[in-house]
Amino acid sequence: MVADCIFCRIVAGDAPAHRVHEDERTLTFMDLFPVGEGHLLVVPKKHGENLFEVEVEDLLAVMEVSKRMAHALRRALAPDGIGVHQLNGAAAGQTVFHYHMHLIPRNQGDPIALHGRTEGDPARLAELAVLISRALEPC
Ligand SMILES: [Zn+2]
Repeated sequence: MVADCIFCRIVAGDAPAHRVHEDERTLTFMDLFPVGEGHLLVVPKKHGENLFEVEVEDLLAVMEVSKRMAHALRRALAPDGIGVHQLNGAAAGQTVFHYHMHLIPRNQGDPIALHGRTEGDPARLAELAVLISRALEPC
């Protein structure tokens, strides 16, 4: 745990988040600045800044959950497509330096962006978190 890392604080329960799913190695929650309805972040619980630092077991766990989440997003929201993105380093567009995978539902004609500029409506984010978690199939 890194004290000034917002994702470590969310994992520890010290910062609020609209949680969707949790297992031994990963946590999934709603992006607070969504670029689209249902924008999720999947993070390893153990801090690692980026792809270069994260343990392979944690990467595999994040990818496995990402697949389950993609299915859940499709069932819950029926988007035309889902962007799965992961950025390493400020130059690549990374803004929080704790490894994370973005899952972004997209509809035909949506602009391609990775970070939203406006905070999502908290009530709607809470609603979506429930909707998506209910659409998850058991392992
Ligand atoms: Zn962290």
